[in-house]
Amino acid sequence: MTTLTILLTTISVTILLVTGVVFIFFLSNIVNIQNIQYQQQIETTEVERLLLLHQISLESTRDGILILDDANQIIGFNQSFLKIWDFPESVIQSSTYQQLLRRAVKKLDNPKYYIRKLREINNHPEKQINAINDSIFFNDGRIFYTNYHTQKIDNHKVGRIWSFQDITYAGKNEFTVNNYHQFYDPLTNLPNRLSFKNSLIASLASTTQNHKLAVCILDLNRFKNINDNLGYSRGDKLLKIVADRIQENLNHGDIIARWGGDEFSLLLRKVSKIEDVIQIQERILAAFRKGFAIDNQHINLSISIGIAISPHHGINTDTLIKNADTALSCAKLQKANHYVIYHPDFNSQKSELFTLENDLYNALERGELKVYYQPQINSFSGEITQMEALLRWEHPEMGLISPSKFIPIAEETGLIIPISEWVLKTACLQNKKWQEYLNLPDLSIAVNLSTSQFQQSNLVNTIKKVLTETQLAPKHLELEITETVAMQDIELTRNTLHVLNKIGVEISIDDFGTGYSSLSYLKDIPVTSLKIDQSFVKNLLKGDSHTAITTAIIDLAHGLNLGVVAEGVETEEQFNWLKVMKCEVVQGYLFSHPLSAEEATRILKFYQPYKLESSYLAA
Ligand code: C2E
Ligand code: MG
Ligand code: MG
Repeated sequence: MTTLTILLTTISVTILLVTGVVFIFFLSNIVNIQNIQYQQQIETTEVERLLLLHQISLESTRDGILILDDANQIIGFNQSFLKIWDFPESVIQSSTYQQLLRRAVKKLDNPKYYIRKLREINNHPEKQINAINDSIFFNDGRIFYTNYHTQKIDNHKVGRIWSFQDITYAGKNEFTVNNYHQFYDPLTNLPNRLSFKNSLIASLASTTQNHKLAVCILDLNRFKNINDNLGYSRGDKLLKIVADRIQENLNHGDIIARWGGDEFSLLLRKVSKIEDVIQIQERILAAFRKGFAIDNQHINLSISIGIAISPHHGINTDTLIKNADTALSCAKLQKANHYVIYHPDFNSQKSELFTLENDLYNALERGELKVYYQPQINSFSGEITQMEALLRWEHPEMGLISPSKFIPIAEETGLIIPISEWVLKTACLQNKKWQEYLNLPDLSIAVNLSTSQFQQSNLVNTIKKVLTETQLAPKHLELEITETVAMQDIELTRNTLHVLNKIGVEISIDDFGTGYSSLSYLKDIPVTSLKIDQSFVKNLLKGDSHTAITTAIIDLAHGLNLGVVAEGVETEEQFNWLKVMKCEVVQGYLFSHPLSAEEATRILKFYQPYKLESSYLAA
């Protein structure tokens, strides 16, 4: 060992201190010291004592350190370095620096990129004066921060130091406490936003033409309700389980980070075609469909995913994240458990949605929301037995807006609560008026309940209040919940529906057949009828499985002593077939479109069984 070595190891000690290594432990860590001679000669000379001290300090860090002299001779390293690179000590001792580099890059993901980078370092020695900081990705999924310093003394280059710091996962305890909080989320032990961005920057730098990457932002739908209903500690537990479930479905080397409260981000690094991304999303969605178990309770949770793929949707961090976020907004406004890949058109859609969101805040006050009514008809008697209340928004500039478009916004913003309460009250009041003024005492009204409305703790009180205020008998109110809403939290559904059943209101399962395949829940909840989803009715008699499914749902309802309603009946053929199959209630454009309160009143007043709406409206 030369004075130069001492000098360089001294410098490395400085680096270690700067990077937060707890130097104080060095004396108790006298293990794995490379040169056993130091111990034997410990008291001999001042130089040797210093050498020992420096070697010990080298070993007191978990970071890997490699020291070279100015002629690229390896003159120092620590055990962490050997462990990180999985090099036997004999290899270091028998290899030149160049041979070592060749061995090392083979262990990295995308070795060509690193070879280019090393060549660049060699060709531009001036760059080496400053530290080179980079993240490197091992092909086994580990990630390290690399620091490469050229050391100068009195303007003379004296050598170089490589250091490697593990930033893969905090669970591996590779971090000091400070680093941990800087880069990791303490709840899930996943990398945080900052860490994710760093990895993304590094991955983008190493992306080649055939090598794409995808950024995905995942959002748990209505996680707030989970916290509200189960409490924060169970909510936290669920977040951890969710993180594990997502991680299980990624490929080796992909990164998952906690993006925020109930949001995660993914960096998919092994992407050669779009199908690779889709495959992972399908796996994640399938994993969510299984539901989650918390303290013996089964919870259904849905997820929305927005995806941006580099280079198509951006070549820098901010653009990719922004575009993945835009795609997420679109996914959230569609159905639950859904992923959307970014498209440039989304930006204009997003601004339209933003306008809608803003306007929706005032829509109720300005009287722009209207309840429309669609008759439900008894197939055998031809009489209107019930009206379904369907919400409409008469936007001053955009015209009539479908609830499918603005109800997701209302759910996101929380506006669904006042809006739904208003719909419920308006519809009940209207039905009461029809019963009284048109002498239709048996007429009922069906009102749709949104997911968040159903999960509100004061739902039952609101319904009781509305029934009292409007004087409508509970048996004349039917609440429609979709199968997906019912299955979100089966325990909550069971409890809520039992209380509602006690009050005396009717309950139907809307869009039946499109949600979960498990039917056993039906025997546990007090449901009065099933509404066959219109997608089955639409394709009736087209010779495929839809006819078989419709038949099965009608039989199921009869077997369980439940009513059955076919939605979306548009043709005589469909209606005749449904009558033969003894589907007792039908609803659809064949009989009537949803109508304003005035039009609906006119229909009810002059209605004769099976006469189409147009003849009444024209009258
Ligand atoms: P839904 O409850 O399943 O309502 C049936 C939908 O099918 C309505 O669409 C209705 O206009 C449409 N429809 C009825 N007959 C036919 C037909 O013969 N052919 C076709 N193609 N469609 C037909 P709408 O009014 O656009 O409502 C869409 C969904 O929005 C509803 O589906 C319901 O889930 C939701 N929704 C509507 N009003 C409310 C509300 O007040 N609160 C909540 N939470 N959701 C609502
Ligand atoms: Mg409905
Ligand atoms: Mg429906």
